Amino acid sequence: MTMHRREFGRAILGAAGGALFLPLSLGRNANTSHGPVGFETVQVPTVNASRLMGNLESIAAFGRSAGGADRVAYSEADRDARSWIMDLMRAAGLEPEIDVAGNIVGHRPGTETGLPPLMFGSHIDSVPSGGDYDGPLGSLAAIETVQRLVEEGVTTRHPLEVVVFANEEGGKIGSRAMIGAVRAAELDLESASGRTIGEGIRFLGGNPDRLEEARREPGSIAAFVELHIEQGGVLEREGVPIGVVEGIVGIRRWEVVVEGVANHAGTTPMIGRQDALVGAAHFVQVVNRIARETPGRQVATVGRIRAEPGAPNVIPGRAVLSLEIRDLEMDKIESVFRQIANRSETIGQETGTTFQLNEFYLSEAAPTQERIRSTIESVAEELNLPSVRMPSGAGHDAQSIAHLAPVGMIFIPSVGGISHSPAEFSRPEDVVGGANVLLRTVLELDRMEWSPF
Ligand SMILES: [Zn+2]
Repeated sequence: MTMHRREFGRAILGAAGGALFLPLSLGRNANTSHGPVGFETVQVPTVNASRLMGNLESIAAFGRSAGGADRVAYSEADRDARSWIMDLMRAAGLEPEIDVAGNIVGHRPGTETGLPPLMFGSHIDSVPSGGDYDGPLGSLAAIETVQRLVEEGVTTRHPLEVVVFANEEGGKIGSRAMIGAVRAAELDLESASGRTIGEGIRFLGGNPDRLEEARREPGSIAAFVELHIEQGGVLEREGVPIGVVEGIVGIRRWEVVVEGVANHAGTTPMIGRQDALVGAAHFVQVVNRIARETPGRQVATVGRIRAEPGAPNVIPGRAVLSLEIRDLEMDKIESVFRQIANRSETIGQETGTTFQLNEFYLSEAAPTQERIRSTIESVAEELNLPSVRMPSGAGHDAQSIAHLAPVGMIFIPSVGGISHSPAEFSRPEDVVGGANVLLRTVLELDRMEWSPF
């Protein structure tokens, strides 16, 4: 897999960068049209494929190590890459600035006064030993989008804001600062860089003492779009180049405590044992079965299990497990949980144990907006790129921005479904296809009227 990393920038695409134009009919849809409705056709630029691939290769050099991409948030590599990004923005015709949370926001004015900006972008920090696409794809494609508009003399009605969020991988700190959701206590937590989050924000040029100023008001952004790798194997398996994200799934987690009776493993007959681990084993099976048999795309997982006292010659008196359920709809998570909880009572009766399920984590689902989904879909169709609707099982900055504005996300295939790994790879044709969908989506969204969120 790692050999793919060297294929950057080798244009197996055939397209001379930026030379392709595709027709876009104006006034196709009364709800989305702006200006004169007629039969005129404008030329919509496509991205410069070799420049985009070259930029992906260039940013990969920041933090490159034997173990992959080590560009964790607030590290020297992160800071240096961000400085490079700001130069790239300037070259693309954007005016970049660093907000108090360390986010980079590149501005380009629109033609109509009083309109809120259209925002698009992603992040560039990586997990330790990560890959080259998670984050940089959406960030660099966003810059490329603006550069092509500038080169073609296309000015949008809305101001454009290309954003490169700070510290996505370590808790979506930059995007959460934009919604005022970063708690003061978080600033003292140590990040993967070794710096605390507060120190890291300062290191990137932000100011943790004034974090409140990063906050945006709901409605102050017209719409937000993020292009990202899928990080799963669905698109590749189905041979579909574009995923239209329906939303970022909600997550709930419980600690499950199974109480039985500990006793001598040699002298206690099998009949009448109250083995907590046997109860737990049934529970694991039930979670898997209910998640599979309930119609829908929910996922449920027991990822951790501990038996107490944990000796080979003692019947476990207590077992502690985790339960996690994810779905796009919080109601669905609740109903799957109810089924599991009911079934655990039966298991308790059958095994002489008791079950306690204590919730310890909740992350609300963040649906994308239907109008943006259908725009992405029709844009992909115009580009002859098949698309499929799908949830995002992973978290993204778009999830934060969904509190401020309607959001949309575009996925492209991850080869082998691998991410957060040096083997992370997306084919150049998929990278370029996704970037073209982003560019066109931005132009389509610009033609729409956005009512206050
Ligand atoms: Zn990401």
